[in-house]
Amino acid sequence: MPGKLEFDVVIIGAGAAGLMCAIEAGKRGRRTLLIDHANKIGKKILMSGGGRCNFTNLDVSAQNYLSTNPHFCKSALARYTPFHFLELIDKHNIPYHEKTASIAVGQLFCLRKSADILDLLKTECIDARVAIKTHSHCSEVSQNSGGGFSLSLGNKTEQQRIHTQSLVIASGGLSIPRMGASGFGYQLAAQFSIPVLATRPGLVGLHLNESLQGSLASLAGLALDVSVDCGGVTFNEAMLFTHKGISGPAILQISSYWQPGEMLEIDLLPAHNLEQLWLAWQADNSLLATHLSRILPRRLVELWLQEFDNLPTRQYSFQQREAIIRKLHHWQPKVSNTDGYKTAEVTLGGIDTNAVSSQTFEANNVNGLYFIGEVLDVTGWLGGYNFQWAWASGWCCGQVV
Ligand SMILES: Cc1cc2nc3c(=O)[nH]c(=O)nc-3n(C[C@H](O)[C@H](O)[C@H](O)COP(=O)(O)OP(=O)(O)OC[C@H]3O[C@@H](n4cnc5c(N)ncnc54)[C@H](O)[C@@H]3O)c2cc1C
Repeated sequence: MPGKLEFDVVIIGAGAAGLMCAIEAGKRGRRTLLIDHANKIGKKILMSGGGRCNFTNLDVSAQNYLSTNPHFCKSALARYTPFHFLELIDKHNIPYHEKTASIAVGQLFCLRKSADILDLLKTECIDARVAIKTHSHCSEVSQNSGGGFSLSLGNKTEQQRIHTQSLVIASGGLSIPRMGASGFGYQLAAQFSIPVLATRPGLVGLHLNESLQGSLASLAGLALDVSVDCGGVTFNEAMLFTHKGISGPAILQISSYWQPGEMLEIDLLPAHNLEQLWLAWQADNSLLATHLSRILPRRLVELWLQEFDNLPTRQYSFQQREAIIRKLHHWQPKVSNTDGYKTAEVTLGGIDTNAVSSQTFEANNVNGLYFIGEVLDVTGWLGGYNFQWAWASGWCCGQVV
């Protein structure tokens, strides 16, 4: 870090958004300092995508994001597209691939490891002469009367007073505290009277009520394709039974829409019409479980049919048949809670985007103060959308700070 304590731009939070913003500000010749309280930068990048970082999605639009202000993200997503990030990927010769499963089309992953993305960003930071400081806590921020901000930065051994014209908050949300997540951005917003919307964990596993947990315990580890609906929003992806409830891509996606008390409806046979299959099955004398086991995991069939007898299909009453079909096509498990911030991939809610410019990301009421990335009330679906938001908001802000 340079000896001077004067910077043009200080960015708090060296995650995806902060790194991108620092690179762009540095490229413009702005004296830029990027600080993080963690021991390493970009920890979530390293752990993302199961170690292969799903760094963007070829098909990004505002519809892939949740926000109280759904138009807010449009400008940045249009100005910095996935193809802009791909230019960086190509410049650094990073091998990647697109997921081929139809439900995952457009999701781009590293072929080798997530560290390729972090190395790219670090190299760009060096080229743009960005100063990076880890293990650094910001204990105080005050606005200078003549413009800009003064910050008290420190670690166990030293304390420093820093002055900057622009201050960018890229400190992310509350998800995964052991990776460095903190409520810093929200607290700072409150200090400057910037509204913060209630937060909750998103892209997270769901817990079922205790009696269901007990009765479904033997299914833990089993995955199947489902269609899950919450309040009219539907996702068709894989679901995983866990010890506490349900998870997997379909459930992570719908968890961002689920609120306590709301009902989920899950179709365990989305590729089939059980009503029609049943008619065909009546032609022979096979047991229902035999037919169902051809299209569903046997473990699940056995458990699902426990409350019914296992008979040849033609021997069921109309009411029994309807109940079985309902339980397979319209399962309504009672969700008690989410797995919480300790495993949630994202934080919903956050800085109210009505208080921030969608062009520059500057707070409407405080000159020189900016918010980017996940700390804002913009949350993407699973599939590379959250990194694309971090890149896009960081890039746009980096043009103006
Ligand atoms: C397990 C997991 C896997 C994921 N996989 C993907 C994926 O494959 N694709 C995708 O698009 N998204 C993925 N996400 C979501 C994605 O990681 C985030 O949306 C994205 O990292 C947000 O970027 P950000 O820069 O806004 O915040 P963050 O990446 O959270 O960065 C914030 C930074 O601020 C620092 N910080 C916090 N408080 C302070 C403070 N007080 N002082 C100084 N520094 C501070 C933190 O240490 C951190 O480095 C995943 C998330 C998780 C948890």
